[in-house]
Amino acid sequence: MRALYIGRFQPFHLGHLHVVKYILESSKEVIIAIGSSQVSHTIQNPFTAGERFLMIKKTLETEGVDLRRVHILPVPDIYRNALWVKHVETITPPFDVVYANEPVTVRLFKESSYDVRGPEFYKRTVYSGEEIRNRILKAADWESLVPKATAEVIKDIDGVARLLEIIKSDKKETSYQEMSNSV
Ligand code: ATP
Ligand code: MG
Repeated sequence: MRALYIGRFQPFHLGHLHVVKYILESSKEVIIAIGSSQVSHTIQNPFTAGERFLMIKKTLETEGVDLRRVHILPVPDIYRNALWVKHVETITPPFDVVYANEPVTVRLFKESSYDVRGPEFYKRTVYSGEEIRNRILKAADWESLVPKATAEVIKDIDGVARLLEIIKSDKKETSYQEMSNSV
């Protein structure tokens, strides 16, 4: 059995890790598809597909997951939901089951007759990409919500400074030089 798990993983957090481990209890292989792979450097999608790939690979390595059972692939947006499942199928190896909780994803794969399973929500209020990005911006504790290896990748790429910098505005009377100094 090969399972598909698709998300944006902005960033990869402990909820995602929980789901991957849960999938591997019943599926021999899991395809982790990095959605909106072309997007980066925005508040909702700060990290590149390559950076997200590293977060996932290093975390699973650290967790002792057999990487021969895991495929990590980027899937760019096509802005055409009715064709999206076909688009995913052209990128990934074939799969028998889809794990997702995001309603549009669930609906689209069900319409294509896939066996869609919703993994149990795992501390969803805090294990959420949006919550983690907000905490990074507020300088609140975000590290406890992501695997250690993911936190290391974020630090290595200077990810916190990236978020703080891209949220700024050029409509305020602050020069680029002043902005850079305050980061
Ligand atoms: P964002 O707030 O940016 O949407 P997210 O936490 O929802 O981030 P996604 O990459 O959008 O992360 O999620 C990928 C998939 O994992 C989705 O199907 C989502 O519903 C599911 N998921 C995310 N967090 C959890 C969690 N804590 N428990 C169970 N499923 C989760
Ligand atoms: Mg989401």
